[in-house]
Amino acid sequence: MVGAKNKMNETDGIFWCDACNIPILDNICGKCSSIGRFCSSDLKPVFEAERVLFEKSLGLELPIEILRSGNRILLDGKTLYRFKVDTAKNRITSIEPIKEIKKRIVAHERTPGFMRKTLRANENYLRKKERTAVSLVKGIATRYSDRSPVIFFAGGKDSSAVSLLVKKALRGAPLFFADTTLEYPETYSLVADFSKRCGFKLIRDGDDFYKSPCDFFELCRKLGPPSIYSRWCCSAFKSYPVNKYYGEIREDVLAFLGIRKRESTRRRKYGTLSVSKKLSKQLSVFPIIEWKEADVWFFLLREEVPINALYMHGFSRIGCWPCPTGSFSYILRSTVHPELHKKLDGMLSSYADGHGRDRQWIEQNIWRLRRPKKKRIIVRPTSVERKDGHYVMAYGSRLFSPYIAEFLKPLGDFERNNGEFSLNSGSYSISGSGRRLLLTCGTGNLSEAKTAFEKQLSRALSCVSCGGCFGACPEGAIKFQNGRFSIDGSRCTRCAKCVKSECVAMEFGERTIRVRADPYAMTRCIEGLPMHHLVFPDLKLWKRAVETLTKKDLKFEAHRDSRVVCVPKGSMKEIEKILRPNWH
Ligand code: SF4
Ligand code: SF4
Ligand SMILES: [Zn+2]
Repeated sequence: MVGAKNKMNETDGIFWCDACNIPILDNICGKCSSIGRFCSSDLKPVFEAERVLFEKSLGLELPIEILRSGNRILLDGKTLYRFKVDTAKNRITSIEPIKEIKKRIVAHERTPGFMRKTLRANENYLRKKERTAVSLVKGIATRYSDRSPVIFFAGGKDSSAVSLLVKKALRGAPLFFADTTLEYPETYSLVADFSKRCGFKLIRDGDDFYKSPCDFFELCRKLGPPSIYSRWCCSAFKSYPVNKYYGEIREDVLAFLGIRKRESTRRRKYGTLSVSKKLSKQLSVFPIIEWKEADVWFFLLREEVPINALYMHGFSRIGCWPCPTGSFSYILRSTVHPELHKKLDGMLSSYADGHGRDRQWIEQNIWRLRRPKKKRIIVRPTSVERKDGHYVMAYGSRLFSPYIAEFLKPLGDFERNNGEFSLNSGSYSISGSGRRLLLTCGTGNLSEAKTAFEKQLSRALSCVSCGGCFGACPEGAIKFQNGRFSIDGSRCTRCAKCVKSECVAMEFGERTIRVRADPYAMTRCIEGLPMHHLVFPDLKLWKRAVETLTKKDLKFEAHRDSRVVCVPKGSMKEIEKILRPNWH
C-alpha cells in the first residue's frame, strides 16, 4: 500500500531525474549522476489495461509514461491528478478539473523507451538491493541449517521477488502455495507459469495444492461476512493449508515470505526474522522487509519473470477475490470478474436481509467496516455440590458428546471407555458418563478448574472447524476427523498452546447461543449469608423464575442487574421442583 497514509521520510522515497525524465530509486541518477528531486513516498507502474480504465473514466487519452502512487497519477514526476472511487456508482472520478489535466498532458514530453531507460538508470541500485537480500538469506539459512527452507508463494509481486532472491541464494528451496480456494483464476495460472518458467519445485498435497476444506459461504452464514475488523477468513483459509502441511512433515521450517514494512502500520514494526505464534513449526524470514513497492516492481521487470495478470488491470495487491480490503479492488473485481462480484453480492444481500441492512450497506461498501460484537458462549454448571471437602459440578446433559471431549484432552490425562471418558489434570478431574459431565476439584482450586474447563467447553461449542488453530500445536496433534476438530491423544503433550491460541469463532462468532446457565447454579452466597444463588443466563428466564416464586409466595431475594435469585438454605429442594419444569 502506498500513499499519504504510509508516507515515509523524504530521504527514503522515490526521486525524479528531470534531466532524464525518469523515476530514480536513489536520490542520484544512475544514468546522468544528476541529483533527483523528491517525487513521492512510493510508486507502481501503470500497465496498459489499467491505463485504459483511467482513460475511460476521464474520457481522455493518457501518456504511457504515467505511474501511480496510491490515488495519485504521476506524470513527469509530478501529480497529474488524484482520483477517487465511487463504489455505489461503480466509477472512478478525478478530483482535479479535466481542463487542468489536459493542460498538464499537453506540457508533457514523451520519453522514448521510458521503462527500459528507467531500469537501466536504476540498475546499480537494484543490484545493491539484490546483493544485500541474497547475503541475508544465505546468512540466515546457514544459521538455521537444521530447518527446511520453504518459500511462501502467494501469486503476488512480493512473493515473486522473494522467490527469485531465495533462488539466487539457496539451491532447491521449494515454493509453497496455500490455496485458499478463493483465488482469482489469474493467480492459479501465475503459480503454474512462474514455477515452471523459473524452475521451482511446487509443494503439493497429492495432485492438488494444500487447501482448506471449509466452505466460504457456509462460514459466512455462521460468522458473518469478513470485514477489515473481522478477517476470520485469513485464519480459516490461509492458515489451514499451512497447518495441514506442517502436520505432515517432521522438520521445522525456515519460511521465506514477501512481507514489507510499507504495507501497513503493523508491519512497520517487523524485523527480518519472526517467530510465529500461530505456527509453532515456523521461523519466518522477510528478505524484502525494507523494500519499497517500486523496488519490487523494477526488480521484477528487470528479471523479466511472469507477473500476475491482475496487476495489468490495476490491482495493487493480490489476494482472495472476496477480500474486504480496498475500494479500488471492489471496482476492479466488478469490471474484471463480474461473475465473482455477483457471487459476493449474493452472499452480502442474504446477510443484509437477515440483519436489517439495506442496499446502501453493500453498495457503499459499509459491509467492509462491519464490527462483529463478541458474543461468547457462556457455560455454567447445572448444580454445585460439596462432598468430602471437594466441589462436584455437573454440567447439562446436552453438553456431553465424544466431540466435546476432544477439546478437553489438553487439560489432563485422558481415557476413553465405551463412549465414556475420564480426565485427570493432577489438581482436578473431569468425567463424562451417563450423559453427564462432572468436574471435581478441591476447594482451593475451584476458580482455576472452572475457568479452564468452561473455556474449553465454550470453545468446543463455538467451533466451526475452520482449522485456524491447528498450527498452534507443535506436535501436529490437532486434525480434522470427519470434518471436525480432533486431538490425537498419543501425540498431545498437554503444552496448552492450543488452549491459549486465538479462535476465530470465539473471537468473531455472531451466534448468541448460551448454554443454559441453569437455575441450579448454586454456590454459597458471596456475602456468607445462609442463602444460595440461582444465576440465570438471561433476563427472560430470571423474570420467569421471579414470577413463579412470587405466585408460590416463597421467601427469596431477587437481583435484577446480576440476574440472581437468592433463596434460603434448606428450601432448595422445594424450589428446584417448582422451577425445573420451566427449563427442561
Ligand atoms: S495441548 Fe499442546 S500438544 Fe496437545 S493438542 Fe494442544 S497444542 Fe498440541
Ligand atoms: S477451535 Fe476455533 S480456531 Fe480452532 S478449528 Fe475450531 S473454530 Fe477454528
Ligand atoms: Zn538522469
